[in-house]
Amino acid sequence: MSTASMPSGLEFRQSVDHMVDRAVEVMDLDIDIANAIKACTSVLQVTFPVKIKGKIEMFTGWRAVHSIHRLPSKGGIRYATSVDQYEVEALAALMSYKCAIVDVPFGGSKGGLYIDPKQYTRDELQMITRRFTRELAKKGFLSPSTNVPAPDVGTGQREMAWIADTYKHLYPTDLNHVACVTGKPVEHGGIRGRTEATGRGVQYTLQEFFRHKEEVKDASMDGSLEGKNIIVQGLGNVGYYAAKFLSEEDGAKITAVIEWDGAIINPDGIHIEELRYHINDNGGVKGFAGGTYEEDGTKVLEMECDILIPAALESVIHEENAPNIKAKLIAEAANGPVTFEADRILRSRNIKVLPDALMNAGGVVVSYFEWIRNLTHIRFGRLERRFDESKGHCIVHALKEMTGRDVPDYIQDNLARGADEFDLVRSGLDDSMRLALQAIIDTHNRNEKIEDYRTAAYVIAMSKISRSYLDIGIY
Ligand code: NAD
Repeated sequence: MSTASMPSGLEFRQSVDHMVDRAVEVMDLDIDIANAIKACTSVLQVTFPVKIKGKIEMFTGWRAVHSIHRLPSKGGIRYATSVDQYEVEALAALMSYKCAIVDVPFGGSKGGLYIDPKQYTRDELQMITRRFTRELAKKGFLSPSTNVPAPDVGTGQREMAWIADTYKHLYPTDLNHVACVTGKPVEHGGIRGRTEATGRGVQYTLQEFFRHKEEVKDASMDGSLEGKNIIVQGLGNVGYYAAKFLSEEDGAKITAVIEWDGAIINPDGIHIEELRYHINDNGGVKGFAGGTYEEDGTKVLEMECDILIPAALESVIHEENAPNIKAKLIAEAANGPVTFEADRILRSRNIKVLPDALMNAGGVVVSYFEWIRNLTHIRFGRLERRFDESKGHCIVHALKEMTGRDVPDYIQDNLARGADEFDLVRSGLDDSMRLALQAIIDTHNRNEKIEDYRTAAYVIAMSKISRSYLDIGIY
């Protein structure tokens, strides 16, 4: 694999920096502090050999640490052929801002391996992942206290379980070894609700948006999510859960899904579960019976809809197609789907953008819960669930005694039910997403120089991070 053919993420990194600069311009923040925050603290590049089908193949990977004002630094590991050092740095920076926005006490980091995972078997990927893990751990870029990865594009629970197991064998005396990575399967120290957390966070944030009538009106819409037309790009982990929950639970209509091999369009709404089965069986959306196939997926980004959810790749909305986008609201479920220049064009056209650093933060929020669960070595709800249940039964009993009437079943069920881990994770995620969006809307509305939600989000992030830099002091 020649590194010469690697695409450059430089534009993406610059785009993130420019967006932060817009926030710094409207803040009373020392420019030197702003520059210190924006800079990436350290980047590791590793190249290592793995024997695949009897031949030695070389792999190149990176792990960037953007900020260490809070530890550990947190951020996913991506397996893709788009990965390069700049992309990893841009994504690490986004993680710092994201954690600050949703009040998660982590610094920002990100990793990537230049690989097309589709070209390798499960066993080969395991060997590659375990070797990459050893490189990261031995060089100080993986540990429960300093640097904790999670899944991203091309990786999932399986890879996280391999990483955790490799780390455990390297450092068996580290009591907290299982906290070296999040997004693990539940049987291997993961937390219930992590797999769908990012998509769930997209849903909770959109639900909160529709509770703010003035903002909804500003985005040229009214009412609730019910009946809204939504186009989703990418039906992977984030896009699938977001589309599923929004259509099944909020009554929204997914009118188009764009994938790598084209798009499926259905103005009456696509059955997401069926489409997902089709993709699993066929590798793409082509041939799906529940809608019309369009080969040019990029064209579908420009179709009429209420909400566009890019949930695949970065820079898919750029200078050329931004003037043609017809969505009223863009919810950035992917990292960096809108370039800096496109962002300006969308603003001038009054198309509202809910930024990535907020929209996809659900993953890191639940990763934070998983990390705490691992450090405490106990499942959330284990101590209090039955106690809460018996208190609920007492209340039901008291109600019956006092009123002399039966308590309806649905009230009994609600009262006499202790929260399990799933309930608590969902409640904590909902709370985090709601509070973060409320703060962004509030910041946006309080300062007329702040023209958009993204700038408001970065103002919040920069003021939180700068406060922690100033409190500690730079020496
Ligand atoms: P994934 O690999 O599970 O899914 C990506 C999907 O995009 C796949 O279905 C893929 O086929 C599709 N895709 C690839 N090329 C495409 C193209 N040209 N057009 C349309 N679709 C295409 O990845 P994911 O974990 O869902 O991540 C998606 C985005 O969300 C990324 O930007 C990632 O950084 C971000 N994100 C993910 C998480 C998480 O918890 N997984 C958390 C925060 C942010």
